[in-house]
Amino acid sequence: MASDYDLIVIGGGSGGLACVQRAADYGARTLLVEMGRLGGTCVNVGCVPKKVMWNAGELAHALRDAAGYGFDISLWRHDWPLLKQLRDEFIARINAVYERKLGQRQVELLRDHARLLSAQSVQVGDRVVSAGSIVLATGGRPIIPRLPGAQLGISSDGFFELGARPDSVAVVGAGYIAAELSGIFSALGSRTTVVLRHERLLRHFDSMLGDSLMQIMREEGVEFATGAVPKSLARNASGLLELTVEDGRVLGQFDALVWAVGRKPITTDLGLELLGVSVDWAGHIVTDEFQQTNLQHLYALGDVTSRAGLTPVAVAAGRRLADRLFGGQKGRKVDYDTIPTVVFSHPPVGTVGLSEADARTRYGDAVKVATSTFMPLYHALTPRKPREHMKLVTVGPAQKIVGIHVIGEGADEMLQGFAVALRMGATKRDFDDTIAIHPTAAEEMVTMP
Ligand code: FAD
Ligand code: NDP
Repeated sequence: MASDYDLIVIGGGSGGLACVQRAADYGARTLLVEMGRLGGTCVNVGCVPKKVMWNAGELAHALRDAAGYGFDISLWRHDWPLLKQLRDEFIARINAVYERKLGQRQVELLRDHARLLSAQSVQVGDRVVSAGSIVLATGGRPIIPRLPGAQLGISSDGFFELGARPDSVAVVGAGYIAAELSGIFSALGSRTTVVLRHERLLRHFDSMLGDSLMQIMREEGVEFATGAVPKSLARNASGLLELTVEDGRVLGQFDALVWAVGRKPITTDLGLELLGVSVDWAGHIVTDEFQQTNLQHLYALGDVTSRAGLTPVAVAAGRRLADRLFGGQKGRKVDYDTIPTVVFSHPPVGTVGLSEADARTRYGDAVKVATSTFMPLYHALTPRKPREHMKLVTVGPAQKIVGIHVIGEGADEMLQGFAVALRMGATKRDFDDTIAIHPTAAEEMVTMP
C-alpha cells in the first residue's frame, strides 16, 4: 500500500527540523509533527534564550570592568522583566521564521501529539498517517529529583519563566546547566550558591576546567556547598526555601532553587513498548551509528538517544540521515568522536577530545601535556583578575593532539577552529609552527612550551 509521505518526523526541535528540511530539499514528501513550540528545547528553553542571558551576564561584568578603563558607570541597574520581554519577543520571531521556512519547503506541519502505531504509521490526534520512514526526534526534559518538597524548586524551563531576579538563589547540580545558570544569576546580582554532590563542577571534563571555574566564581562571590546530597526542600515561615542535605546541613535561605541535575528523554506515550522499540536503562532510544532503531524504517536522533545532548549533534544526525535516505549518500553518518563543546559559564569553558586523565588511562606514559596560565590583556586594567587556563593533551613521539581544553576570555569563540585542527590530526609541532596572532588570548595555544 502506498504511504501518505516519504518521511514523518516526530518532534520539531533541532534534530527533527534539520532532518525534515533536508529531506524536503531532496524532494521527499514530508510531515513534521510537533506538539509544542517549533525549535524545541534549543530555541525555546535552551541554547538561544540561555545565550541571551549569558550575553547579559557578560555585559554586567563588562560594566564593572569599565571603571578600569576610565569610565564612570556609577549608576547601573538591571531590568530583568524588560530583558525577559525582549528575549521572549526574539524567540517568538524565531518560532515564526521556522514555521515560514517549513511552508516554503512544503513540509506539512501538524501541531499535535504523535504516537507510533507501527514502524511506518503514526496516530496524530484523530488522524492516522503513514510513511516510508519515521524519525523520532522527541528530545528530553529536565529531571526533578524525587525528594520531599522538590516541586518547590524550578528546572531550567522555570528559569526562563522567572519574571524577576531572585535576590538569593541556589542551583543544584554540577554540569553544564548548573555552571551556566549560576554564572548568569551571579553576574546579574543574585546571591548565588551552587550545591554539589561532589567537590567539583564539570567533573566529567578535564579537571583543570572545573577547578579553575570554581576558583574564579568564588572570587566573584559565588558560594559552593560541596559534598551536599539533597534530601528535602521546604519553605520556611518567611516563605524562603531551605534545602536539607544528607549530612544534616540546612542550606538557605533562598528565594528560588533551580534543579540542574540532568535531563531525561521524552518517550512517554510514544508507543515504544507496544512495538518493542529498544531503549536503554535511562529510557534513551537505542540506535546504531546510522540512527537506525531495532525496527526497520524507524530511526531516532538527538536528545532522545543517548549520544551527546547538543544541538549541533542533533542537527548533524538529522541532516546526515536525510542525506542517506533521500540524497543518495550511502554510508553518510555522524562522527560522534571528538565533539567540541562550550560551557557558557563566566568565563566560558571550551573543550574537545580527551581529558588528561582519560588520555593517561588510554595511552599511559605516551601522554604529554602542555599548559598555559596567564592574565588576559583585557584584565590588565580591570578590577577583577580571572586568569585564563589552557591545556593541550598530546600522545606519542609526534605529540599528536588528542585533547584541547581552555577556560577564559574568548574560549567560546576560540575552540571551533582548534577542533578542526584536532580532527585533522594536528601535532604539537603544527601548533608551534603556526604564527601567533598578537595580542590575543588564542595566541597562547600556539606558543606553549
Ligand atoms: P528538542 O530540541 O528537545 O526537540 C524535541 C521536540 O519534540 C520538542 O519540541 C517537543 O515538543 C517535541 N515532541 C516530543 N514528544 C512529542 C510527541 N510525542 N509528539 C509531537 N512532538 C513531540 N546545546 C548546545 O549545543 N549548545 C547550548 O548552548 C545548549 N544550551 C542548552 C541550555 C539549556 C538550558 C538546555 C536545557 C539545553 C541546552 N542545549 C544546548 C542542548 C540542546 O538544547 C539539545 O541538545 C537540543 O535541543 C536537542 O534537540 P532535539 O531535536 O533532540 O530535541
Ligand atoms: P549534566 O548531565 O551536564 O549535569 C548534571 C550533573 O548534576 C551530573 O553530572 C551530576 O554531577 C549532578 N547531579 C546528578 N544528579 C544529581 C542529584 N540528584 N543531586 C545533585 N546533583 C546531581 O546535566 P545538565 O542538566 O546540566 O544539562 C543537561 C544536558 O543539556 C547536558 O548534558 C548537555 O548535553 C546539554 N546542555 C548543553 C549546554 C551547552 O552546550 N552549553 C548547556 C546546557 C545543557 P556530579 O555527578 O558531579 O554530582
